[in-house]
Amino acid sequence: MSSSASDPMYAIQQIPGKGKGLVATRKIPMGTRILSEKPIIRFPEAAPDSQKLEASIRRQVDVLTPAQRQSFLSMHNLYADDGGSQELGIIRTNALPFGDNELEGAIFLDACRINHACDNNAQKSWNENIKRHTIHALRDIEKDEEITIYYIAVVNNREARQEAFRRKFAFTCSCRLCSLPPDQSQESDRRLDEILKLDGLIGRDGLMGILSTPLRILRYVDQQICLYNKQGPNDVGLPRAYLDAAQIAIANGDLARARIFTERAATGWTILEGGDSSKVLQTRALSQDPSKHHFYGMSTKWKTAVDDIPGSLDSTQLEDWLWRREKPKQPGQPADLRNRTTFPAFTDLPSERDVDAEFYSSAITGNARSTGHGQPRWHWLFLAEIVDFATLVRLQMDVKDVDGATVPLFFYTDGRGSELAPSQVRKGYTIAILYAQHHAFMFSEPGIRHEEPTKLKSTGWNKNGHKADCKLLKDADLKGLFSLDWDNFERRVEFPLVTGTV
Ligand SMILES: [Zn+2]
Repeated sequence: MSSSASDPMYAIQQIPGKGKGLVATRKIPMGTRILSEKPIIRFPEAAPDSQKLEASIRRQVDVLTPAQRQSFLSMHNLYADDGGSQELGIIRTNALPFGDNELEGAIFLDACRINHACDNNAQKSWNENIKRHTIHALRDIEKDEEITIYYIAVVNNREARQEAFRRKFAFTCSCRLCSLPPDQSQESDRRLDEILKLDGLIGRDGLMGILSTPLRILRYVDQQICLYNKQGPNDVGLPRAYLDAAQIAIANGDLARARIFTERAATGWTILEGGDSSKVLQTRALSQDPSKHHFYGMSTKWKTAVDDIPGSLDSTQLEDWLWRREKPKQPGQPADLRNRTTFPAFTDLPSERDVDAEFYSSAITGNARSTGHGQPRWHWLFLAEIVDFATLVRLQMDVKDVDGATVPLFFYTDGRGSELAPSQVRKGYTIAILYAQHHAFMFSEPGIRHEEPTKLKSTGWNKNGHKADCKLLKDADLKGLFSLDWDNFERRVEFPLVTGTV
């Protein structure tokens, strides 16, 4: 049934411990269409009436050629003891989703023989244009290597995958990924969990999110793509992530970046589905003119023309430009104080009570361990003006943030605030707190509970004052901070800044 019957790239063979499977008979380069097949039996995914379903399947089996029927009936049946017909059992065991919306299931004589692996080397998809089920090599497949696809819908960690296989297919996966030593397996699981978490954050606020906080959402997509690339080549999520990035760019009027993002999405889908898939054709058309997308015109915040792509960038610079990553500033060139992601108001801070996936990744490393939170996704610095202060049991302040909101700040450091010299505690001075969090006090309105001296700095600079930037830069620590690469989180920074951290 393969389209390449004249020069087959694979043979159906017995695979130890797995029944039959497909094995490459020669090297198959990435992006190659390994097979394209019509279904021999199809049925609605949500069949309402099992008697009607059985009758329909029997009719379809009856019209198969003897060779097809023999091949079909030799397929594995997990439900042999369930009392249903052999045909239905085979279908429940082997069917693949079929059609653009996957509302139908179907049996393909060759494609249904392909076994699962969590680090699959091939991708299945239904191609509506040619009305065929296709399998493509998502990386180079060596001669004699088994061809594998991914059976379940969502990329997930090992435990969740194994649970899904037990429930759906009654098998324990022992693929390379599922057999990794514990430390490597944890690393892979952490990436997969993080990819899922980022998926939630990217989609959470929908169009509102990509219009009100586009940079933040673009950063999530950037992080997600980095994780996909670490996990392995050509994950099916990768082109979708590029399309997410394209939509963020389009909604904000940035046609130049949208063009590159859509081109990358199309390239990704070409490898996974072939150049004739509808996804590829639609995305290629969009890359020619991203302004055709219905998100275009909603905001002109990032307005660029489609060919406003800087010419003389090396590949690293191009990526930094594309993802709008802020580069380390030259000395004397302060960061943008209006950037609410880097310099948030009190209402923008994460809550101390739960690990906010928006602010923290799940990696627990270094001094993140002591806080019980993951690694911050980026550096943020809460800046506020001291409007009042008092020392009773401990130093406490009322501070005014960028929105003009006054919030309490209590010092729960070992010295209860005595770490700050009296000369630093003055009305009108500015305090700067790294990675500040929202704390719900029992005895007061919500505020900030300050515990680690290395996170706080007070200085005689008023951010609302005249030539704020110049005054700010007189303080060596803050000067250093403002030269940080704020978007690129490698490790936490602390006061006083160690030379070389910036
Ligand atoms: Zn596996």
